[in-house]
Amino acid sequence: MLDGRSDEGMSRRALMGCAAIGAAATASGMLGGMARAAPPAGTALAAPPSLNPDQVLLQLKQGNARFLQGRAVPGDLQGRRRLAIARAQYPVAVLVSCSDSRVPPEVLFGKGLGELFIIRNAGNTIDTAAMGSLEYAVVELNVPLVVVMGHERCGAVAAAVSVVEKGATFPGSIGRMIEPIVPAVLDARRRGAADLLDASVRMNVSRTVGRLRDFSEPMILDRIRSGRLRVVGARYDLDDGSVDFFDEGPVRPRT
Ligand SMILES: [Zn+2]
Repeated sequence: MLDGRSDEGMSRRALMGCAAIGAAATASGMLGGMARAAPPAGTALAAPPSLNPDQVLLQLKQGNARFLQGRAVPGDLQGRRRLAIARAQYPVAVLVSCSDSRVPPEVLFGKGLGELFIIRNAGNTIDTAAMGSLEYAVVELNVPLVVVMGHERCGAVAAAVSVVEKGATFPGSIGRMIEPIVPAVLDARRRGAADLLDASVRMNVSRTVGRLRDFSEPMILDRIRSGRLRVVGARYDLDDGSVDFFDEGPVRPRT
């Protein structure tokens, strides 16, 4: 249910259509908001960064190291930067992470405006909307790195654990939302994890990473195989603030 293949054609056409419309409107200055956001004379527009996946991964690690040392300087948040990216965005990484208020990617990695393309939901799963967002970022915005990041004591994963362990049920859409996490819990339990919750957090990430690496659309797989895109898995530690990139995957030569 998570691969979004059932309506892939329609989604992609609609998405690319939106992108095309957006590009056309931007080019012709038809959007009212664009007119208001037009940079004043002399404001340099942002240029696409020419970073490869390994360089971006290193940036994120260094940003988290600064965060750990308590000297994290938020990325560029100034008005000049806002104006520079008002007409185009060049994020360097896609983050698939949890909605948990304690896990804000820009803060953890010391990034600012226009640097991270973030997909967040409780439990960092990938449904059709998330997959389409990810594909858009990779294919249209040329983002070279995807980070799937779970975190310590995730409530959504804990809920999935309680489904498996106690047959718990949840109201509204919560039960359906955590359904995709249940297989990760079962996997972790089958392996005899001592700490089932934490093992499930990691397994939930690993399953998503594996799916992206092996079962994505060709437009994603081609980039992975040619080394232009890397998909990595990580876990954020609520207690000490560190991000453990525990699954960096194979490093592929870029072609
Ligand atoms: Zn969470």
